[in-house]
Amino acid sequence: MKTFTTMALAGAMLVAGAATAQERFITIGTGGQTGVYYVVGQSICRLVNRGTAQHNLRCTAPSTGGSIANINAIAAGDMDMGVAQSDWQFHAYNGSSNFAETPVPQLRAVFSVHPEPFTVVARADSGITTFEDLRGHRVNIGAPGSGQRATMEVVMNALGWTMDDFALASELAPAEQSAALGDNNVDAIIFTVGHPNGSIQEATSTVDARLIPVTGEAIDRLIAENPFYAAATIPGGMYANNPDDIPTFGVRATFVTSADVPDDVVYEVVKAVFDNFDRFRGLHPAFANLNEQEMISAGLSAPLHPGAERYYRERGWM
Ligand code: GLU
Repeated sequence: MKTFTTMALAGAMLVAGAATAQERFITIGTGGQTGVYYVVGQSICRLVNRGTAQHNLRCTAPSTGGSIANINAIAAGDMDMGVAQSDWQFHAYNGSSNFAETPVPQLRAVFSVHPEPFTVVARADSGITTFEDLRGHRVNIGAPGSGQRATMEVVMNALGWTMDDFALASELAPAEQSAALGDNNVDAIIFTVGHPNGSIQEATSTVDARLIPVTGEAIDRLIAENPFYAAATIPGGMYANNPDDIPTFGVRATFVTSADVPDDVVYEVVKAVFDNFDRFRGLHPAFANLNEQEMISAGLSAPLHPGAERYYRERGWM
């Protein structure tokens, strides 16, 4: 009897060993470590990796430069999936704006996540109270490769501004910019990001700083002319010394992949998230208001990946 048990155990271990050998690694592109994309990727991987014994997927979500870097990595086959702003998902798939020369027709939508208001924070001592006031000041316009930088350039174009309109246009990554504001190396920072988040918390708690409204004719026109922009509000009271609602415009964070990633891989990732949705929603305060129906439609312009669609149909969501 004892021998039999030992043999059965050895057999089970052999099977487990074989399964380990077939593990498939998937990589999710995120953003800077103080942003919300990083938490999106880490959270998805945490849920996927709980089921590795069943599906053999092993997920990692390294920090990256953000939306544009993630889409480029997916296009090159260097990453399987990534988080990207809805405006850059649209442009990449359609070959417009920054992607006019390098369209990504194989880009596929999986689901959308949290809203991302275009967020401007200025030191109180800079005298900046409107977006127009950024002119002549030291502004961190963001690092190339980030969605926030690319969207800032769209706004600058809409206003007819160039880099010369600023006393200094720095290109710090999101993880560095809040400290730069606190150290008085810049007067204002820009971040297209979900709220609340640690980065803006740091910016508003280390120095007296204000969220700045982003409104006016040029912004209204951007919203009217582009399906992926919408009016947005950053709720008052979310950050220190910022009691008032702040009007701006925004996009959505979306989760994207490539048509080249197999259906069963995307299916398992989507299943890991939505089978454990309450757990997922609890992993960051910016996820608190997420709901399934909105996530499978809002902000998605590339076609849904068939692996995701299969899961949504199984659940009766479409
Ligand atoms: N929306 C930002 C970008 O695409 C990233 C925001 C975040 O890291 O949460 O660069």
